This record gives sequence, C-alpha cells and structure tokens, in this order.
Amino acid sequence: MPISAPLMSHFEHPELIHHQSYINGKWVDAFSGDTFAIINPSTGEHLIDMTNVGAIETNNAIAAAQAALAEWRKVLPKEKARLLRKWHQLIIDNQDDLARLMTLEQGKPFAESKGEVLYGASFIDWFADEARRLYGDVIPTFAQDKRLLTVKQPVGVVAAITPWNFPIAMITRKAGPALAAGCTIVIKPSDETPLCALALAELSHQAGIPAGVINVVVGKNAVEIGNVLTSHADVKKLSFTGSTPVGKLLLSQCAQTVKRTSMELGGNAPFIVFDDADLDAAVEGAIASKYRNAGQTCVCANRMLVQAGIYDAFSKKLAARVQELSTGDGFNDKVQIGPLINNAAINKVSELVESAIQNGATALVGGKPADALGTRFYEPTVLTGVTQDMSIFHREIFGPVAPLLKFETEAEAIAMANDTPFGLASYFYSQNIARIWRVSEALDYGMVGINEGIVSTEVAPFGGIKESGSGREGSKYGIDEYVEIKYLCMGGLS
Ligand code: NAP
Repeated sequence: MPISAPLMSHFEHPELIHHQSYINGKWVDAFSGDTFAIINPSTGEHLIDMTNVGAIETNNAIAAAQAALAEWRKVLPKEKARLLRKWHQLIIDNQDDLARLMTLEQGKPFAESKGEVLYGASFIDWFADEARRLYGDVIPTFAQDKRLLTVKQPVGVVAAITPWNFPIAMITRKAGPALAAGCTIVIKPSDETPLCALALAELSHQAGIPAGVINVVVGKNAVEIGNVLTSHADVKKLSFTGSTPVGKLLLSQCAQTVKRTSMELGGNAPFIVFDDADLDAAVEGAIASKYRNAGQTCVCANRMLVQAGIYDAFSKKLAARVQELSTGDGFNDKVQIGPLINNAAINKVSELVESAIQNGATALVGGKPADALGTRFYEPTVLTGVTQDMSIFHREIFGPVAPLLKFETEAEAIAMANDTPFGLASYFYSQNIARIWRVSEALDYGMVGINEGIVSTEVAPFGGIKESGSGREGSKYGIDEYVEIKYLCMGGLS
C-alpha cells in the first residue's frame, strides 16, 4: 500500500494525499513503475512511496499544457478570477490538512505550516484580482495617420521548479500570476516535499481549473526533468526558486531556446544593529528573521552585524532569547524549531559552525547537532567573535545559527553587508531617520527590512539582485513576469 494507514487517519480529507503525478487533469503512474520514499525529516518515518516520473511524463505534461493553452488564454478575466478565487477558498478550507502534510514532509512547526498555507493562498487571491487588471496602453502617436497601442498577452507554457523550504508558497507565487495572465504551467516540486504540491493540484482540480492548465511532475531525477523543461521549444518561460548554482545551470540551459526566466535564488542577508537601535525590537526581529523555519529561508538573517556600543548588550539578550527556543517535532505545539531537511543540511551547518569555532568564534548558545532529538536536529545557536574571513560569513547557512560580527562605523557596516555576491533580503535597526534613508539606499539588495525582521507579503515585490536572481514575485509587478507586451501600430487612418 503506498500510503500508511496512520498517516491517512490524521486527515479530515485524505483525498488530498496523492502519490502520483498530475498530468492533463489525471493522476498518473511512472511508465517505469519506479517509486521513491518520502520521509518525515523529524522522525525518519517512511510516509509514502511516490511514483518517480522522468522525461517521458514531463514531455506529456508539456504537451497537455500546450494543448490547454489555446482555450485557457481565451477565458475571460472575470472567469479566470472566479476559478482562482475558488482554488484560494479551497486552500483556506483545507488549511489544517495542508499544514499537516507540510509538517509531515518538511518538518516545520505546525503553526508555521499553517502560516505558510495562508501566505501561499494569499498569492492566488491577489492574482485573481490582478487577472482583471492586465491593462495595455494607448501611446501618443508620432504621425497623424497612425495610432499606437500595446496589449499584454500570456507568455505561453510556463515551467516552474520549486524548492522544499516553502512547499506551498513557492508554487502559488508562480501558479497564481501565470494562470491569471493566461499561461498554463508544468510544476516540478522538490522531491523532498511533493505531497503539498500534489494536494494543491487536487484542490485546483476540485476548483474546476481545466485539465492541462496545471500539471505537476514528481520525480527523483531533477536533472532529467529539468533538461526537458529547459530545452522544450513549447516551454516559453522558466520560473525557478532554489539555489544559485542550480539557477545558473538552468539559465545556461534556457539560453539554447532563449526562454524568459525568473530566478529566485540564494541569499546572504545582513542584519545590522546600530547603536541607536531599539534593542528589544532588534532582538525580536532577529529571532523572527533568523530562526523561522529553523533558519531554512532564503531571506533568513545570515550575518548579524552589530555596532560596538550595543554589541555586548545585544549578544547577551539574543542568547537569552535563543536559549528559550524549544526544538523538536513540529506537531508538539511548544516547539519553535523543527528539524533540518536532510542529513546533508546537518553536515553543512555543523561544518560551518565547527570551522568558525576553530578559527576563534565562541558559541554563546548551542553550537552542535541536537543528537538526543534525532539525526536531523541542530541546536539553536548564537556565535560571537565571527570575522569576515570565516566561511560562515560568505555561505548561506540554512540552519538555526546566528553569527555575530562587530563593527565600528556606518560605512564599515555597509561595506561588510555588501561584501557578497548575493543581494536578496537585508535588515537594519536604527531610530535615526537620516541614517535610515542613507543605509536603505546604500544596501545592494532587492529588499530591505527597516526595524522589521519579516518583509514577505503578497502585496509587495519579492526578489533579489546580483547572484540572488532576477524578476519579482507578488505585488502589481508579479504578473509582468508572465506576459509579453505586444505593440500594435495602426496605419492608414487619415
Ligand atoms: P536546489 O537544490 O537548487 O533545488 C531547487 C529545485 O531545483 C528542486 O526542485 C530541485 O529538485 C531542483 N533541481 C536541483 N538540481 C536541478 C537540476 N540540475 N535541474 C533541474 N532542477 C534541479 O535548492 P533547495 O535546496 O531545494 O532550496 C534551497 C535554496 O533555495 C536556497 O539556496 C534558498 O536560498 C533558495 N530559495 C530562494 C528563494 C527566493 O525566493 N529567492 C526562496 C526559497 C528558497 P530536487 O529537490 O528534486 O532535487
């Protein structure tokens, strides 16, 4: 049996749980008959055997999306909005089951999972409205007998490749605007977290979104599936969220057919605390930004840069707060820090921390795997005495570890913050209005949190610069990624 009985019994709507890919409105097995196991990262429990699709099924999904495109692009905006709103409502109605699936396969605490379900749903709701606002322009003419216009048309079939750290929101941020613009989509979720993606597909089916408009291919061989998605002539756009090295590879693959791309890649967020900051607010912002999802977010504070005058007070207070954080299984409602996604993640975090300590840093709290809880837990950690020459300063940690560095001047803080090829999120705390403007403008990042540790919302543009990617998700700009602007020149009007 592919699904364990204990797993099923937790769900109000077990029909949300699927182990097959969703192609052209149908649930399909792999031609090869292959399966792979989905594991609960918290307990190591085997959750389900997932069918393992590859190139053949991905080609079929693209063919289905291409066939559905002709009708979907003609659906009136009001009707598209109605279907998206229905999908949104079903996600809301099933939020507990979706959050359960997320905690099971991804590990984040149940309350956080519920938060992500609502956050993910908000993109569908937002873009349902945007579907009705895809205006073109009438351009003042350059000649008496001509009139000039622009119209916005769907890009076509979109491929979406998404990561495991936000198994629902990273999909809805792409599917919402793609569908609203009149595109159809083939989604390849991470092989760590396909259950949430397939549950979203089930709900889109229940909402009445036509066959072929949304397709989800689940397979262990990301390279094989990725090769098809990036080389197929019918795929006109790739929207990728994941690591910078994979993003670079996919960009090069897309170059062969000159596809449109949106790249939401890795980060190395600075979190700067100036002497004039509200200390309590800065500590709470640091907790929210750093330890959410056990530090596994692209916008997590990765480097805490603290001015000399407030360094000791900040590190003491932060360490005391981190000491209070409870680590364990996400279904325990006292737990704030769940497991890391896999053993490779534990090894990477351990190496970065050990190397920092060997080179002179000190762990005020934590500093090692929480072995007593299982193989994939890491103690919430605060490191002081970190310096710019340590690898932890330059690499995305993706774990519950806050490295603290001391600086003297504002110029030094900005130089340290910008000393990275990444440019996704950044944060700083100050109560000086002139400094707030200076620093906001000097930070080379796509997003700046000012006296705020959480910036993500569907109403604002999310995205990075430099090697953190290109394109924006959410907000009034998000739909632009899925449309072509066509220029119409009408002559002979005299
Ligand atoms: P990843 O290893 O780059 O994987 C992301 C997705 O790409 C997964 O679906 C993965 O499949 C797939 N993939 C991997 N290699 C591929 C290849 N050669 N061809 C085609 N697809 C391939 O990243 P991750 O570890 O899942 O996610 C963490 C990273 O995502 C971090 O760097 C984080 O900063 C970034 N991220 C960025 C944002 C943003 O908005 N900027 C948001 C969230 C996360 P499998 O998982 O099945 O191997």
